[in-house]
Amino acid sequence: MVPVNTPLLNGNEKKYLNECIDTGWISSEGPFIKRFEKEMADYVGRKYATTCTSGTAALDIAVSSLDLQKGDEVIMPSFTIISCAQALIKQGIKPVLVDSNLDTFNMIVEDIEAKITAKTKAIMIVHIFGLTVDIDPILNLAKKYNLKVIEDAAQMQGQEYKGRKCGSFGDVSIFSFYPNKQITTGEGGMVLCDDEELDKRAKSFRNLCFGEDRFIHEELGYNYRMTNMQAALGVAQLEQIDKIVEKKRYTGNMYNKLLKNIKVINLPVAKTDYCENIYWVYAITLKNECKKTAKEVMKELSNYKIGTRPFFYPMHKQPVFNKMGLFLNDYLPNSEKLYEKGFYIPSGLALTKEQIEEVSEILHKVLIWDSLEIYIHNIMIYFIVIKIIVVKWNM
Ligand SMILES: *Cc1c(COP(=O)(O)O)cnc(C)c1O
Repeated sequence: MVPVNTPLLNGNEKKYLNECIDTGWISSEGPFIKRFEKEMADYVGRKYATTCTSGTAALDIAVSSLDLQKGDEVIMPSFTIISCAQALIKQGIKPVLVDSNLDTFNMIVEDIEAKITAKTKAIMIVHIFGLTVDIDPILNLAKKYNLKVIEDAAQMQGQEYKGRKCGSFGDVSIFSFYPNKQITTGEGGMVLCDDEELDKRAKSFRNLCFGEDRFIHEELGYNYRMTNMQAALGVAQLEQIDKIVEKKRYTGNMYNKLLKNIKVINLPVAKTDYCENIYWVYAITLKNECKKTAKEVMKELSNYKIGTRPFFYPMHKQPVFNKMGLFLNDYLPNSEKLYEKGFYIPSGLALTKEQIEEVSEILHKVLIWDSLEIYIHNIMIYFIVIKIIVVKWNM
């Protein structure tokens, strides 16, 4: 079995974890928490960081910290994880969805301005699968219309936009440290910003909004505190970030080479004007000519013991939101098509060269007939054209 993700923990993880156990610092009070926050903030170029229990929790905290009001609107992509939309909806804020590009999987920046209304208060950008959103035009819009920007960089530790680190853009950014992300703490997340007041609010929301007089509360928060043991893993992982990024790109580039002859699939875009793919996951879409759906291909790959995952199911089609009366009139065809045509293959940090070759070989096997069909189709067209020319010649 080649699992879709296997994390790599071969640095100082064990040593730092042992320190937690030996010293008894296992709660959120331990020294690795502040150290992880400081080192991560320094790494991406932010002033402040707040660790928390997950990327989902980080989004809840980020939205709470911005002090948005019920009925406010936030523009975000439909093609993303539910954490982004639910952070808004649970707080009474209305997500306004935009469609995504079929090749970069990221939100269509040109579609944002038309969705801005008097109620719009923020734009949530979400970097998807390995390429960043084109951020500068969004920052310009935010300035023009006085909007806040939330950056979901959950999949992007180590990635850069025009040479600047992801996690450093907009008013507030978040990371996830789930085991399939570049850096993992098992479970975990982080909120980053440059504003002292916002940072104070983030830390307060993380910790139940305890007051100066401890048990007197002015607002409702969460217990989203990360443990010192998780932060210990994070510190050890961050020491390896350059190697991690290199390994991600190695895997991506190797797949690019091994899969380039399969006619019925689109490989991920290797680079754009503003970033180089970090291949958080190796995301494939089936071309229109391919008769199979992503579901069918994933099923066949699983018969060969290759792990895969489907793409996101768009937010505007989610039963839970439709039942609430949300997004019923949204028409975002690219997001729907990505779900139908897309899936990703194993790309975890512990994946070996041999496993990459094995996955590629099996993918060739599974798609060979679909590719051959296209070949035969093209050859037939070629013969028909020759035939017509010959017939005309003889007339
Ligand atoms: C993983 C992820 C999250 C959620 O992170 P968890 O730690 O799993 O809660 C949020 N946004 C994006 C884009 C993600 O990929």
